[in-house]
Amino acid sequence: MNGIYLLLGSNIEDRMRALNTAVSKLQASGMQLIDHSAVYETAPWGILDQNWFLNVGLKVETSLSSHDLLLACQKVETQMGRERKLKWGPRIIDIDILYYGNQIIDSGSLKVPHPGIPDRKFTLILLNDLAPDETHPALGLTQSQLLEHCEDQSEYLPTKYQLDIDLA
Ligand code: ATP
Ligand code: CA
Ligand code: CA
Repeated sequence: MNGIYLLLGSNIEDRMRALNTAVSKLQASGMQLIDHSAVYETAPWGILDQNWFLNVGLKVETSLSSHDLLLACQKVETQMGRERKLKWGPRIIDIDILYYGNQIIDSGSLKVPHPGIPDRKFTLILLNDLAPDETHPALGLTQSQLLEHCEDQSEYLPTKYQLDIDLA
């Protein structure tokens, strides 16, 4: 992978506003936005009895280390009122690090590439928008190949929502 990729998701309150707020807070905490995917509406994953999500994928540049990037993302989640009650439960904002270039990290608090990528269509559609031909550093498959092989049957819909931001 060339670049750093984040996944943003929201499924409570004003979901589009939450995505926009998160992007501007990430920009204010040391990330430059290079590119973004389309915004998709996606069926919940893991816990099915909750609202559909809005998801967007970001490509960013930053001088933050992977660990500091995780802390910066978690700080934005906390500032936006994210409560950690239920794994995979409803949330105003979730920010996951999908890839940090070709780095492979498996520390207590951070796993990169994000281990959910190959099993989650809602993640692969964003990556396929952003970087279809870039290769997963551990699996050796491109994002479009991962999407093709993904057996997740969860539904997703394109939306007309647009992020309210300018690219760097
Ligand atoms: P999932 O990670 O399966 O998508 P989730 O996003 O609901 O589930 P959270 O409660 O947001 O899970 O995060 C749980 C922990 O995951 C965090 O405290 C963080 O330390 C850890 N984590 C490990 N790898 C990553 C990563 N690549 N990006 C974000 N968090 C990560
Ligand atoms: Ca997540
Ligand atoms: Ca998360």
